Amino acid sequence: MSLFLDARGRSADAYPGAALAREARRVRRSISSRVYLPAFSIVAIAIALVAIGWSSHWGGASFSESLTSLKIVVIGPITLVVLGVLLVVERLHPAQRRPVFARGYRQDLLYTILNATLVVPLGAALALSFAEVARHSLPWVVVPRIGVVPRWAFVAAIFVAMDFCNWLAHFANHRVRMLWRFHELHHSQEDMSVLTVFRTHPLIHVSYLIALIPGIVLLANGAVPTTMLVVYAAVVAFEHSNTNLGFGPVGRVFVSPNYHRIHHQLDGPQDVNLGFALTIWDQLFHRAVFPTAATIRADTGLPGRPLVVEQATTRPRHVFVMLAQLVAPFRPVADDASAPRTSSRSPRGRGVVES
Ligand SMILES: [Zn+2]
Ligand SMILES: [Zn+2]
Repeated sequence: MSLFLDARGRSADAYPGAALAREARRVRRSISSRVYLPAFSIVAIAIALVAIGWSSHWGGASFSESLTSLKIVVIGPITLVVLGVLLVVERLHPAQRRPVFARGYRQDLLYTILNATLVVPLGAALALSFAEVARHSLPWVVVPRIGVVPRWAFVAAIFVAMDFCNWLAHFANHRVRMLWRFHELHHSQEDMSVLTVFRTHPLIHVSYLIALIPGIVLLANGAVPTTMLVVYAAVVAFEHSNTNLGFGPVGRVFVSPNYHRIHHQLDGPQDVNLGFALTIWDQLFHRAVFPTAATIRADTGLPGRPLVVEQATTRPRHVFVMLAQLVAPFRPVADDASAPRTSSRSPRGRGVVES
């Protein structure tokens, strides 16, 4: 019997359903000691979206056609050549000198293969389903064709708004613990390279679906060409490279490798420099820290290695490490688990001189 008595001296057990509530709490505690329950909400959203897409025949779009074109983009010769060139560039002018086959590089190569094989179909399915759900449940969000405005202006607007949505989702990844548990993997890389762009948990793409909204809203007025999306992806890949490059004055507007490395810095706040392609969002929300000589060669990764990383094991067990990293968001939160590091104060005024 409960030791707690209410104001009238009745035992808490006297309330109808009190025993049931206590039992539910016990079960929840028991499950929480084995798994991190909130992580399953992302799985549930992904399954629901895929099921909706499947049942609606992917909104009329041929799924296999979209998949083929996406695969051509991801593993096509142009992408491979671009990745190859960027990998050479980072060897020629590196921020940090490392062996050609550093462990981190090999680990990220595994993630690249995972992306090219499994993540592409998943991403295509999620994107098509999300667009279908948005168009069906909120048909009024699609703006009709406005003839007086040229198409290129709409394409530019979609591009800028998409970049802002990516910024917002990235910010949420750093502020919401459940999302951080998936995003943490991306920040665990200690040997950053172009391939680090692929070091992401496949399920984190659910949080970036909001970036499709500008394209859905302005669909009747224009669509961002695939070439532009490939250039966007190449810019995002390049900013992860080990290249010592700040883009000079252009780096005030576009994200450079030296700028994005600060976001991955081992001993700095991670909720700065969240931009994908443009730095303007970081500047607007006082989260921009521009590179200095000290930040260019800064180490990256997570302090205390809360996530198993390839550099920590005595022998490189890349597949085992990858599986452990992919399962990690579902494991219970340890008492000493790291939370995303946030800037305790505005980064304004720090490191604003670009070298
Ligand atoms: Zn981040
Ligand atoms: Zn990054």
